[in-house]
Parts: sequence; structure tokens; C-alpha cells
Amino acid sequence: MKTLIFDTATESAIKTCAEIIKRGGLVGMPTETVYGLAANALNGKAVADIFKAKGRPQDNPLIVHISRIDELYPLVSEVPETALRLAKAFWPGPLTIILPKSDIIPDEVTAGLNTVAVRMPSHPVARRLIELCGVPLAAPSANSSGLPSPTTAEHVIRDMDGKIDAILNGGACDVGVESTVISLAGKKPRVLRPGGISPEELSSVIGEVEIDPAVLSQLRAEEVAASPGMKYKHYSPKAKVYIVQGDFENYKRYVEAAESENKFALCFDGEEKELTLPSLTYGHAKSPKEQAHRLFNALRELDDLGAGTVYARSPELSGMGLAVYNRLLRAAAFDIIEV
Ligand code: AMP
Ligand code: MG
Repeated sequence: MKTLIFDTATESAIKTCAEIIKRGGLVGMPTETVYGLAANALNGKAVADIFKAKGRPQDNPLIVHISRIDELYPLVSEVPETALRLAKAFWPGPLTIILPKSDIIPDEVTAGLNTVAVRMPSHPVARRLIELCGVPLAAPSANSSGLPSPTTAEHVIRDMDGKIDAILNGGACDVGVESTVISLAGKKPRVLRPGGISPEELSSVIGEVEIDPAVLSQLRAEEVAASPGMKYKHYSPKAKVYIVQGDFENYKRYVEAAESENKFALCFDGEEKELTLPSLTYGHAKSPKEQAHRLFNALRELDDLGAGTVYARSPELSGMGLAVYNRLLRAAAFDIIEV
């Protein structure tokens, strides 16, 4: 398949992409979190093609993207008051809300679950594309399954050229990690995936929120994942990644002595000057927002540099740091070294 690549997301480029989606095609679109791979959410066949293009496991449901709050109502069987409070506070933006689904949502979107995940992105190109399509768009991240999520159009081209109909370049993604996923379908609001909106911010609007245990630890084989995506090794470069937990002095001692091939440090800004091994930075130690913005690009760059083993400095676990840690933990297949 020839993939049309639009280097700038002009109105006419967005219109052409909307036509492609209306005909049942797939488009790589920019959002403020990461690039999405979008199809008409109400067309089960088009949604099934997303899974094929990504090589995504069949049991991992997709997020449905809308451009106005009132588009939520037909997609779900009820809109509780907490959902409206969250939508008013954080939409458009990096928050996905899970609610009991309505009958118009095809099974391909929800992987057979009786709930649906919905988000209103803030990126103007994504919003305009949804508007011109006139239907909600199902869109997972536009990477090949298992690889780091794409934060630039170049990343999408690398993974998806020849596999999808079109790619819209809307520049680098602002947030850099995926949306926060909160379920309002259970007894208590529960964060299934940390992301661009922190648990602290959610609590300030709806009170106490639970954090699903899968956010910070690996599920045992017999456990059922509330968010199926959380159970996979994910976001990984070809290199073997380890998270190294401890202060910088101990980190430095450990990684400099480590005997592994093509080792690389993935550290915070400024620390690289004090290390004798090759290194890449992913933001300032005190800025989880910047770490989120740069993490996936850094993971892809490590592959380009031929890294064999990567020792990553651990982010703090509060605010956006929780989302950064959650992604690194999966890139590392849950391998943590304490120093
Ligand atoms: P991605 O689109 O690649 O960012 O992944 C979407 C994430 O949302 C995955 O972790 C999914 O498992 C999760 N998700 C989507 N729909 C649901 C749902 N109905 N219930 C629970 N998790 C969901
Ligand atoms: Mg993804």
C-alpha cells in the first residue's frame, strides 16, 4: 500500500484524511499525547485493520476520540456526574474515561468488554479531523505493537509506512506519553494507566481515586488486567533496559562497573558529564513533564545508537513522574536494579 504523507496539516490535507477515514481507511494523526492511528470507531472492519497494521494483540481495546462533550452520550449507556465533572475539568486534554458502553460501539473497539474508553484530545488537528469525519475515531498509539509510542510524524513513518493510508504531520507531541486512563465503570474511580493528568489533579476534582495495582507492578499469570494494555511488555527499544533505583552516586558506581555489551546510560540532564560511558539524557531530574516529553524519543534514539544494554535513572513516583515510571517499567520488562 502507498502511504500518503502530508508534511503539513493544512485544512485541505485534513479534509483528504477525513475522506480516507469515511471510506474505511486508516490515518496516522497528531494528538497532544502521542500520534494516534485513527479509523471510524463505528466501522468494525476499519477498526480490525488497525489491529493488523500495528500487530496489536486482539484483546487490547482502543480509545474512542471525540471533538465535543455531547458526542460522549451516544457512545455510553450512562454518564455519571463524576464523568461530567472530569470532562469539564480536563477535556479537551490527556484524560480517557471508561464507562459502560452503548450498543453502537462495535466489539472490535472494546475487545469484547462491556465498557468503552473515551477521550477528547486538545490537539487542533485531531479535533478538526474528528469534526470533518463526523464520527468518533478509534485510535491507539500509531507505533508497531511493542515499540515505543510515536511522538513525531517521523516515528509513525518508520513504523507504518506502507501499512496505512495516510500520515498527517502535526509536529512533535506536547505531552509525550499517552493519556491517563480512569475507569468510572466500577465501584470507585480507578486509574488504570497514569498519563498526562496526574492522580493528584484527578483527586482535586472528584476526591479519592484508586490506583490499579498493575500501574506499578507486574500482574501474576492468573490475574485479570483491568486495562489489558498494562499486562504487556511495551514501549521497548531493541536494547535490554534496566531501571536503576538509588541516588546518582550509587548509580554512577554501578553502571560504570557493569560488564555488558554496548552499555548506555539513560540519565537526567547534566549527569552525562559525570559519566564515563556513552549516555543519553531524557530531561531534568526535577521535571517529570520534560521527562515525559522526551522519553519515547530517547528510547528510539538508543536503538539508532546501537545500544545493547540501557541503564535508566528512575523518575520520582509523584505527579507526571508516575506516568514516566510506568512506561519505563514496561520498557524494562519490569527489571529493576536497586543500588
Ligand atoms: P493505546 O491506545 O495504545 O494508548 O492503549 C489504550 C489503553 O487503554 C490500553 O492500555 C487499553 O488496555 C486501555 N483501554 C481501552 N479501552 C479500555 C476499556 N474498555 N477498559 C479498560 N481499558 C481500556
Ligand atoms: Mg499504545
